[in-house]
Amino acid sequence: YSKRYGKNNYTIYSEELDHEANYKLTIEKGLKSAVTNNEFVLHYQPIIDLQTGEVIGMEALIRWNHPQFGLLSPDQFIPISEESGQIISIGKWVLSMACTQNKKWQEEGHPPFKIAVNISTIQLQQQNFVETVAKILEEVGLDSKWLELEVTESILMEDTEQLKENLAKLKKLGVSIAIDDFGTGYTSLSYLRQFSFDRVKIDRSFINDIVGDKNGKTITATIISLAQKLNMGVIAEGVEDDVQLSFLKKEKCDAGQGYYFSRPLPADLHRLPRSEITTV
Ligand code: C2E
Ligand code: MG
Ligand code: MG
Ligand code: MG
Repeated sequence: YSKRYGKNNYTIYSEELDHEANYKLTIEKGLKSAVTNNEFVLHYQPIIDLQTGEVIGMEALIRWNHPQFGLLSPDQFIPISEESGQIISIGKWVLSMACTQNKKWQEEGHPPFKIAVNISTIQLQQQNFVETVAKILEEVGLDSKWLELEVTESILMEDTEQLKENLAKLKKLGVSIAIDDFGTGYTSLSYLRQFSFDRVKIDRSFINDIVGDKNGKTITATIISLAQKLNMGVIAEGVEDDVQLSFLKKEKCDAGQGYYFSRPLPADLHRLPRSEITTV
């Protein structure tokens, strides 16, 4: 039932609302001890260079091994943690775990790639956010060039000074920034004008529409060419089949991510190549 959460399709039916409120309360309460009880896990999904087929990144995606509900997807608890403020400590845990895992992959001798971490707007608005990121990188011993933060344009997103300052400071630190779910928000184009983001990730709804939908093709091709003209990298999200892949290659999209290549998996289930010479 928790799948409904966050989708705004409430039924005017008191039992349902009651259920909804109970779910929220249970989740919120459980979140308090989830970090210390080691209930969160990160799964990783590779990001593939479409020309060479190489893994150029891994996106960390959180799951919650809930004692009562089983494995929960982020949509089932991240919005609640954002409302309650718990996203701040969860976000730190994610950053620290993801950077540690990337360092581990590098030490195991795999060709290095970026670790992509999803960041809530709430985190990005924190005054000490960049210091937190810098401290984690330092503690883990990971070079900032191997970290990419994914930010979503959300309705909550306020165009504050703090946000702009943090984006500029992150850039200075050497951390790259991608806009996630590009094309679905309200402010995409004005944000592109104000900041130089490193990458855009085309929302998977457009990739889904490539097959059989002329508009899906047009929109995808337009975002790719916009990104190229603005000197940004471009990643297609949710690549599931050959038709999408060949269209993206034809349009010279840099990178792809999706079930076609791999589902998000625990770190130890990924079969990564080893490099001849270990450089890290
Ligand atoms: P996202 O960052 O856009 O992540 C991509 C989502 O698409 C993931 O869902 C992934 O499992 C799914 N996906 C990947 N390839 C395919 C495909 O080929 N087909 C389909 N249908 N889906 C695909 P997931 O893991 O459920 O995450 C949902 C969202 O939750 C993420 O969207 C992200 O916005 C948020 N999220 C995940 N982890 C974190 C986190 O650590 N912190 C924060 N703040 N948000 C997170
Ligand atoms: Mg993402
Ligand atoms: Mg996305
Ligand atoms: Mg998303």
